[in-house]
Amino acid sequence: MYNKSMKKVLSFDIDQTLNIAKTPIPDEIAVLLRDLLDYYEICPISGQKFDQFLIQIVNRLKDVNVTEQQLEHLHLFVAQGTQYYRYSATKHDWDQVYSYPLTDEQVAEVSKAIQQAAEELGYWEQDKVAEGDEIIENRLSQVTFSALGQKAGTEAKYAWDPDCKKREAIVARTKELAPAYEYEIGGTTSINAFIPGMNKVFGMTHLLEELGVAKEEVLYFGDMTQPGGNDYPVVQMGVDTITVRSHEDTAYALRGILAVTKK
Ligand SMILES: [Mg+2]
Repeated sequence: MYNKSMKKVLSFDIDQTLNIAKTPIPDEIAVLLRDLLDYYEICPISGQKFDQFLIQIVNRLKDVNVTEQQLEHLHLFVAQGTQYYRYSATKHDWDQVYSYPLTDEQVAEVSKAIQQAAEELGYWEQDKVAEGDEIIENRLSQVTFSALGQKAGTEAKYAWDPDCKKREAIVARTKELAPAYEYEIGGTTSINAFIPGMNKVFGMTHLLEELGVAKEEVLYFGDMTQPGGNDYPVVQMGVDTITVRSHEDTAYALRGILAVTKK
């Protein structure tokens, strides 16, 4: 008999939940996700762009010989789920199911406010950013501030704001300058800005709708589940959540899930 407590969907934050922030997922996670695709719908939700989902997750799954049939159970909720991509084995490619982008005016307004706030506080560190890299990135459905740019080294990123205090200060000032937007702290150096409600609740709500599941059927993994963190909205929705410190914690939990599922 169907058991209501059974999970059908495993959903994941990416940075520091499935990987070391902004890097491809490690072998162990790739193998676990590949095997879990036989039993669950797998749904990463992250503020990152589509190309990063391919680099960090999809290409790594291909490295461990994921099949096209398995990929049809992988659902990419890009830019906090304001864009959704699904794999088609017949087309051998990804279909964009929906997308809700910001307007150019909104991008310009919020980018200006974040830059001004960071400059006022002395946290606009253009000199530390690699050539050709950028601090503020337009991710279509959101604008993302990454203090040291996208390509900075992991160690430098971890060291920049380990207690989130710099980003909390930037967010407080940016809210005064551009109050129409919502701001969330994520990753190691990032702030995401978006239209209120366009956070992981938006992504998770659409996930439930698109996959035709109840929230009780979803188990979510994230590292920023504290109030103000970018995984917190999912917790508030009442979705069962596992808080992890790193991809090692996630791998530990996934090994257990796989073991009991296979029985
Ligand atoms: Mg994270």
